[in-house]
Amino acid sequence: MTAPVPASLWHFLSREVALVCDASGTLTWMDDRAARLLEASPGQTLRSLAAQGTEDKVDRLVTLSRDERVERWEVILCVAGQPRTFAIRGAPHEGGVALVGSLVTEDYAAAISQVTETMSELSALHRETERQQRELKRRADELARINRELEESNRGVRTLHAELDEKTESLVRAAEIKSRVVANVSHEFRTPLHSILGLARLLLNPANGSLTPEQQKQVQFIRSSGEALFELVNDLLDLSKMESGKATLRPVKFGAGDFLGALRGMMRPLVPGDSSVELRFEEPPADLELETDEAKVSQVLRNLVSNALKFTEKGHVTVSASRHGPEDMVCFQVSDTGIGIAPEHHAHIFEEFTQVDSPLQKQVKGTGLGLALSRRLAEFLGGGLTVRSTPGRGSTFTFIVPRVHPEVKEMVGMTERSQQLDPGRAPVMVLEDDRQTLFLYEKYLSRSGFQVLPVRTVEDARRTLQRVRPAAMVMDVMLEGETSWSFLSELKSNEATRDIPVLVVTLMDREQKARALGADEFWLKPVGEEQLLRKLAEMARSGPVQKLLIIDDDEVHRYLLRQLLRDTPYILEEAGTGPEGLRLAREKTPDLIFLDFVLPDMTAFDVLDELKADPRTRDIPVILHTSRQLQEEERRRLEKGTSTILAKHKLSREVAITRIRDALHKTGLGTDRGEGGRRG
Ligand code: ADP
Repeated sequence: MTAPVPASLWHFLSREVALVCDASGTLTWMDDRAARLLEASPGQTLRSLAAQGTEDKVDRLVTLSRDERVERWEVILCVAGQPRTFAIRGAPHEGGVALVGSLVTEDYAAAISQVTETMSELSALHRETERQQRELKRRADELARINRELEESNRGVRTLHAELDEKTESLVRAAEIKSRVVANVSHEFRTPLHSILGLARLLLNPANGSLTPEQQKQVQFIRSSGEALFELVNDLLDLSKMESGKATLRPVKFGAGDFLGALRGMMRPLVPGDSSVELRFEEPPADLELETDEAKVSQVLRNLVSNALKFTEKGHVTVSASRHGPEDMVCFQVSDTGIGIAPEHHAHIFEEFTQVDSPLQKQVKGTGLGLALSRRLAEFLGGGLTVRSTPGRGSTFTFIVPRVHPEVKEMVGMTERSQQLDPGRAPVMVLEDDRQTLFLYEKYLSRSGFQVLPVRTVEDARRTLQRVRPAAMVMDVMLEGETSWSFLSELKSNEATRDIPVLVVTLMDREQKARALGADEFWLKPVGEEQLLRKLAEMARSGPVQKLLIIDDDEVHRYLLRQLLRDTPYILEEAGTGPEGLRLAREKTPDLIFLDFVLPDMTAFDVLDELKADPRTRDIPVILHTSRQLQEEERRRLEKGTSTILAKHKLSREVAITRIRDALHKTGLGTDRGEGGRRG
């Protein structure tokens, strides 16, 4: 262990070695590290620690350091007998020198090896970076290539889209043309076919002279070919109607039992007396009643039964009807014990002009249109048609149809809604036989101040007019089975109904006739929502509207009332003072007065008294409008001359309109015409 560090040496101390020598270079003190590393001890000369051949350099260091500060002096000292370079700093110290040094050789080597290591790491890193850069570039190239390809295929897709759009458009056009051509051609075919069939029937009638047996056979051929052609033309016509959306629904109520009975009557002649096929009709549930297009249901079933009979040589053909599923559907089934249909043909037989090859097919003629048409009809009725069949064992065709056609249900809902007059809306009678158009009008007006009263026949319209006086009427003149021209003229020539504004909306341009008969407006279908609403509001105002006079000094209340009564057939007059109100009441003879209880210049009692005193204004109903609680006495006094007392804070559109209608109704002016006519 060496002596403790002299205090004056502290600032010299380094991590490596610290030595103190006297002026002759003999060591007088050293720190632990120096003692350990250099194996030095006091009394030894610094020179003895130097590596061989460098002793002079060490001497010179001591000599120099005695007089001045030496910053960095490299000397080689022996560490464990091995020469090592030290960077020594020296300085004069109490008659000798103090030296502090650190090993450089080892640091250097370590640094070098570290640098070398780092260098090699760096170069590895560099190589890796280069590799990654190359990879990145490759990927960027690849991406650019993919991008180019994508862009090209995008362009391709766009072109394809455009082509597809064009094709779709031309297909739609072609389909339209096809439907039109088929419809026209079929119609054209029907007339000459009628003649051919009629003539053939005439020729075959013995009363018109007899034919030779050969001639009879020939005419029979003409007749059966003509009949087949007639059937084809009819099917084509029906199909084209379905396709073009021109098919009309004629729903009626009918019982399943009666319906199947009639069907049995129609189909029985197809089964000869000696046939080995039995045609069975199962008894349907007694209370099963449908409300849909009976003729179309019958058309589907007739086709299914005649197919079943065609493709069944022995056994039976069974027809049944039952309730189906929770959704109020009816399931008709026609099953047979005939030749059946292979699974691969199940889908195709519903396509147009598809027939499955079979020996029976050759014997019985057909158009290949029956099932296609039947499926369309089933879908038109809101149902569907499917087949289950096993070759050699028979087939079952299942025709499911809503018991009540959805349109009928909607119509019922609409009619029910119209039975209940909405006090908040002005009734508009719509005479229209097309349900879709009625639904559309109802939808258009559902959020407006108008309520649709749908009527589908002139008779209906007359009945509704007994009950309600509409604010306006919208009517079609081309109704199914009738026109409403005479009804229009009847409306417009009758004193009681002449001022109901009428908008005629129809498919054919008959404006002159409509106007001549008194129509207030004439439009061609189709009608847009906004257009209709605007016109109705305008017409309702010009029709049997009622004038209302508001006497209220509060501008805000007048504004609120105006807003509440927007879109109603009422015309508003406003007065801000009592005298002004009385003047307007006399001049304009309003149908009803809204009177504010608190006026600045006159009391409501005065106004009421003056109104009652004048024969011109005596009968005008008054709705007293107040924002304050009335005394019992006041209330009693007011009730005599007033129809209703209405609290301002409770006023809503509905309440206002109901009260107005009630008040007008009492004087025979309301839209409900139960009591008395319109006040003159
Ligand atoms: P078609 O006028 O030929 O009867 P349909 O469209 O009614 O035309 O029927 C298409 C084809 O489906 C028929 O030609 C027949 O091959 C097959 N098919 C229809 N109903 C039956 C059935 N009940 N049994 C076997 N095959 C049937």
